[in-house]
Amino acid sequence: MIIVMNGKASKAQIETVNQRLVELGLKPNLIQGINRIVIGAVGEERPEIKELIAMAGVEKIIPIMKPFKLVSREANETGSTIKVGNALFGSNQFVVIAGPCAVENEDQINTAARRARAAGATILRGGAFKPRTSPYSFQGLEEEGLKYLSKAAHDNNMACVTEVIDLTSLEKSINYVDMLQVGARNMQNFQLLRAVGRSDKPVLLKRGLSATIEEWLMAAEYIMSEGNANIVFCERGIRTFETYTRNTLDLSAVPSIQKLSHLPIIVDPSHATGKHEMIAPMAKAALAAGADGIMVEMHPEPTKALCDGPQSLAPAEFDQLMKELQRLATAMDREIASGNNANA
Ligand code: PEP
Ligand code: MN
Repeated sequence: MIIVMNGKASKAQIETVNQRLVELGLKPNLIQGINRIVIGAVGEERPEIKELIAMAGVEKIIPIMKPFKLVSREANETGSTIKVGNALFGSNQFVVIAGPCAVENEDQINTAARRARAAGATILRGGAFKPRTSPYSFQGLEEEGLKYLSKAAHDNNMACVTEVIDLTSLEKSINYVDMLQVGARNMQNFQLLRAVGRSDKPVLLKRGLSATIEEWLMAAEYIMSEGNANIVFCERGIRTFETYTRNTLDLSAVPSIQKLSHLPIIVDPSHATGKHEMIAPMAKAALAAGADGIMVEMHPEPTKALCDGPQSLAPAEFDQLMKELQRLATAMDREIASGNNANA
């Protein structure tokens, strides 16, 4: 059930509606739209709810039949914008996140940040806790990596994102980063979803390796039901019968999510393809498909990377990609997020 307040509803009116929902045994969640507040009310729907239409400030009441409610498009027809640093997901901006798969040392992440920023990226990525398929692979620098990542980002006027894999890594990361990433392997780690839902940091929610669109939306519903409405979806390829690419990029997830949810969606062409030569074409396809941004792996020296080198761009290749994206963005009346205050 969604209660849409009219544009002029006062704080007191919103509060009164909230209280009534609680009395009716529902859990209200406030969602800030562009021009209005909507209240998502989750719980058993009683007939008295219809009477809320008579309350001051209420414009309409929309029942939602789908299993995902707070994240559904009906909850905010105009779409949500999520601010991370100076970048705005879900706006006219195309937000570029770049950086290495893993933070390896201070020099590596500083160089990556400098080159990413110079080319026009606004958010630095870098894993400090790596969920590797093999227990013998590099697992990340943990807290030391978080320190290097956040310093490199902030020294270069960027925000930063890192992956959290459990409650311990979440507790540590919260002190250093601007956005938390929940990776493909943890998309249905419901405890972790609830925990990031209780945090006040925006969440980048990657699609599970074999997750349907609905399962992915339900994962976001877990986060939002705990009070955190700042969620950005990230399509990173799904597992199919094809083995030539690491995964199969499902670009149709972009318009699907945009139809079903009010939350922004970006694309990760690195994990989707596993091949550096495919990153530029798929990144441009993501922009053409209407995505809100991309996340790209970029390493100062991909051949020496401890993790995911074959799917990482070298800085010069990233420069070239940003130039091509710029031209495409102009043609599409979009702008590449600049990360500067004036433009945010
Ligand atoms: C990552 O972005 O570093 C990562 C591990 O990606 P995914 O969870 O999509 O495999
Ligand atoms: Mn990676």
